[in-house]
Amino acid sequence: MKYNVDQGLCIGCGMCESLKPEVFKMNDEGKAEAYGEGEAQEAVESCPAAAISPQEGEEKAVGGKYVCPICGYVYDPEVGDPDNGIAPGTNFADLPEEWVCPLCGVPKDTFTAE
Ligand code: SF4
Repeated sequence: MKYNVDQGLCIGCGMCESLKPEVFKMNDEGKAEAYGEGEAQEAVESCPAAAISPQEGEEKAVGGKYVCPICGYVYDPEVGDPDNGIAPGTNFADLPEEWVCPLCGVPKDTFTAE
């Protein structure tokens, strides 16, 4: 995932850089720039100026399926997990950190790509 920082909105608080230094850094003007790639939803939500947004097109690319190592449940991003509030079209990488396997309850980070 790549991100854009709106330089007109950024107030230079440095929050995004401290949360995700591999994705954001502060420039000479004291504003944040997105220079790397990674999952940075937390920074998007924490930015007090709402200056960070996913780069156009990135959000819409539907990623692959992921498999639960315990019960074999397959997360399909085209289907999502509507019973648990996850809309169809939600990529596995964009699931909330607290999301768990809807069948057996193991954490998201134990899943593997199909
Ligand atoms: S969190 Fe938002 S306002 Fe703060 S430096 Fe990053 S982009 Fe700018």
